[in-house]
Amino acid sequence: MEFSGGSRLDPYVDRYAERTHGMTTSEIRALFAVANRPEIISMGGGSPFVSALPLDAIGEMTAKIVAERGAQALQYMGGQGDPRLRELICGVMALEGISASPDDVVVTVGSQQALDVVSRIFLDPGDVVIAEAPSYVGALGTFTQYQADVVHVQMDDAGLVPEALRAAIAQVAASGRRAKFLYTVPNYHNPAGITLVEERRDEIIAICAEANLLILEDNPYGLLGFDGPPLPALRARATEGVIYLGSFSKTFASGVRVGWAVAPPGVKEKLVMASEATTLCPVALSQYVVAEFLAHHPWQEQVKVYRELYRARRDACLDALAASFPTGSSWTHPAGGFYVWVTLPEGVDAKAMLPRAIQGRVAYVPGTGFYADGQGRRNLRLSYSLPDPERVREGVRRLAAVLDEEFEIVSTFGAGALDA
Ligand code: PMP
Repeated sequence: MEFSGGSRLDPYVDRYAERTHGMTTSEIRALFAVANRPEIISMGGGSPFVSALPLDAIGEMTAKIVAERGAQALQYMGGQGDPRLRELICGVMALEGISASPDDVVVTVGSQQALDVVSRIFLDPGDVVIAEAPSYVGALGTFTQYQADVVHVQMDDAGLVPEALRAAIAQVAASGRRAKFLYTVPNYHNPAGITLVEERRDEIIAICAEANLLILEDNPYGLLGFDGPPLPALRARATEGVIYLGSFSKTFASGVRVGWAVAPPGVKEKLVMASEATTLCPVALSQYVVAEFLAHHPWQEQVKVYRELYRARRDACLDALAASFPTGSSWTHPAGGFYVWVTLPEGVDAKAMLPRAIQGRVAYVPGTGFYADGQGRRNLRLSYSLPDPERVREGVRRLAAVLDEEFEIVSTFGAGALDA
């Protein structure tokens, strides 16, 4: 068979599926390549500080699983995931007020795979996903690969703004299109570091119910709050109309790649089928390790260790921002999770500044990656989860120095002087 239209760089270019046209390299991936150099303080990726885990104990536990139950742990299993793990997951979710049965749970390869299968079963090209402004870059990437359009809804310090959600739903309906779901990260938002206040939660659910709009609640950070017990999840308040996603990436280890989805029965069946088509089954060994950790280790104490560690890093980040960032910049004050969302002074472009920041030995993620519509030039995301507090402080200081230079050029020569 003859194909034409390929290029020398990529001879296959004329035969890719249309959906690949929405594929772009994530800003984070591009950044990871340089940011891992030891002289650079990376506040880019959202990696958990897994060195705080009891690694020896996990090693012994894993060896024991393989030695004693290797015939199951190294074998295929059901596509919905290990029943014992699903039961333990229900116990984890109970901490956020969710009552679910193991049969409602589908184990996935991280919640990223759950985002993929949910998108696969709901999104046709041209469908609309309503999402916070800004939104998690990995979710936006998935929605775009399924050729959906994202309509962003404003957040303020109290989270998603109900009036703005109403307006977005009306705007989509008026354009004759169909919004399939609201994608939301209510707790310690990635990248905004904002939490949806308790008083708005029922209202958001009611607005969606009235518009017959599904809610996709993505909650990997819910147990990582610094100021008291977790807020009840949206799924705790509404069993219908909500698909809930959880993950062990931030509360245990991102490398085990274990996440999950909880969905109403019909949706769950479709999720399992879509998931089987991708992976046959989630990774058995990983599920056994997570189940063992939950069942036989004081895992809630481990989450507490993480919380305290991240609180100290958050404090270091906010202190350093207050001490060194120029007037005209502002930032959010996360009550949990990994991220601070920074707005730079007028005229400064976070994406254009990144190479100079790398030169100044600090890395972050520019804001534009967290929007589907080109917003975010004045924004950047700082992640404080990986460097220790002293490195966090130093990273912010380095960034402030880069920013000062940038600011000086912009105020002398005007915005645009740095674009070349
Ligand atoms: N959702 C959000 C909001 C995230 O921040 C992340 C990871 N950064 C994910 C989903 C995916 O996480 P994982 O696949 O590791 O569970």
